[in-house]
Amino acid sequence: MKLVWFRNDLRLHGHTPLTEALATGEPVMAVYCLCPAQWDAHQVAPLRRWYVLHSLLELGDALADKGVDLHVLECDDFAGVADALTTLVQEHGITALYCNREYPLNELNRDRAVADTLRPLGVTLNGSDDGVLVPPGALRTGKGTPYTVFGAYKRRWDVWMEHQPPAAPASPNWPAGKGRFVGRQRVEQALAAIDLPVRLTDLWQPGEQAALTQLARFADKSLAGYRQQRDFPALDGTSSLSTALSAGTLSVAACYRAAMQAMADAGARDGAACWVGELAWRDFYRQIMARFPRLARGAAFRPETDLLQWHDDEALFQAWCQGRTGYPLVDAAMRQLVATGWMHNRLRMLTAMFLSKHLWIDWRRGEAFFMEHLMDGDFAANNGGWQWSASTGTDAVPYFRVFSPVRQSQRFDPDGKFIARYVPELAHLDNKTIHEPWKQPLLAPDYPPPCVPHAGVRERVTERFKQAKADYDAADHSPRTSTQKESP
Ligand SMILES: Cc1cc2nc3c(=O)[nH]c(=O)nc-3n(C[C@H](O)[C@H](O)[C@H](O)COP(=O)(O)OP(=O)(O)OC[C@H]3O[C@@H](n4cnc5c(N)ncnc54)[C@H](O)[C@@H]3O)c2cc1C
Repeated sequence: MKLVWFRNDLRLHGHTPLTEALATGEPVMAVYCLCPAQWDAHQVAPLRRWYVLHSLLELGDALADKGVDLHVLECDDFAGVADALTTLVQEHGITALYCNREYPLNELNRDRAVADTLRPLGVTLNGSDDGVLVPPGALRTGKGTPYTVFGAYKRRWDVWMEHQPPAAPASPNWPAGKGRFVGRQRVEQALAAIDLPVRLTDLWQPGEQAALTQLARFADKSLAGYRQQRDFPALDGTSSLSTALSAGTLSVAACYRAAMQAMADAGARDGAACWVGELAWRDFYRQIMARFPRLARGAAFRPETDLLQWHDDEALFQAWCQGRTGYPLVDAAMRQLVATGWMHNRLRMLTAMFLSKHLWIDWRRGEAFFMEHLMDGDFAANNGGWQWSASTGTDAVPYFRVFSPVRQSQRFDPDGKFIARYVPELAHLDNKTIHEPWKQPLLAPDYPPPCVPHAGVRERVTERFKQAKADYDAADHSPRTSTQKESP
């Protein structure tokens, strides 16, 4: 018997472990390990849990239709996974395990423990890398080090993709008959324990079929205009596929192929190329996380920035969380996050930079708040995005670059439509006043004034980063490999 272990790859399409296991011609069963305590420990958003569990239900039914049993095991946390799998292996005479690799530290440790336990039992382990387009470690600089600068990484990534594009998925060799969904009730019970308002869950459609439909719709309607529209949160200009990609209801290879297909049309070429660039960013942050496990322990990528002295003013943090900073676009973005479980990329950058630079609050608090609310919460992308915005990360925005919340608002929400959607107390203002309501305080009496001024932020941030660097240099930290620039 062969065993396929599903994790953040809850789909049938483009699933190499499943295809490989079925290709052996031997009986195949599948397993999923539920780890609710792991979710609790990492503050996984309830909406994300809801998405994963519903997608798991769809997967179990789809596998059963294809003749493959899915067993859902309750393991509490990752520490219980090796034992639970061992029992399953012994009960069913399993000789080989197939799964997709995962790269965050806890997942790596979990998988090492599983390998150490199952190998002595004679189980062969087969890993695939369907979670990325280019596996971490595949691309290295001339010095043999991982790329830490995106531009250089992307040039090599493009060459790799040109020569080794993802193959069209093979049709799995499905067995005859119906399979069983063992543990469906466990999933339903876990779902019943999640208390979410219907207005929130009504916004989203979990599962593989919905993800494939969304990809087709995006490729058809929005991909061509992606470059022009992707920065405007009031428009439906991006794919909204991040949750499907992070939970694996959609394969990133399917996204890449859809973009390549779209490129056959000259009018869509530029938009598709721009979108593929985002898939490369996704790979980039995954390889960074795989290579620098200290990031999973809360370290800044640039060690000197761990010497920054944050203020962590609780009242300001709460104002940010609640969308009451007095800066309309920042507030609209934070309210979007809490109300929908998702936030537009331009606004993730703006709100993250606002928290870490205007409010001078440790970016890790914002990173955690995002994970508590984002349905697409993904450690590599979230950590990468936060460290980029806070200028503590690899290839991050320079510390002296500080987005003006008003200028961003005027530029990317010129009519104030997005603000009006999430900050109703400003909806009646004209498209000039809506960006700076404090200039007409009588018109928006229920809206707070700016919690901090924008003026002076750049200078203050610059001074603090310089001080941290000086403190760092004064101590002996040689050799300093992590901040070195990479050669292409
Ligand atoms: C502070 C901050 C936090 C973030 N947290 C997350 C997170 O937890 N999960 C997450 O998936 N993305 C995160 N991102 C990246 C990005 O904001 C989202 O992937 C994007 O907004 C999702 O919308 P979309 O699916 O419409 O993206 P599209 O614009 O359609 O892009 C397609 C796909 O490319 C990937 N992608 C796009 N931009 C990035 C990026 N900058 N880094 C890595 N991958 C990217 C995503 O998988 C996305 O679905 C974060 C960015 C920042 C600045």
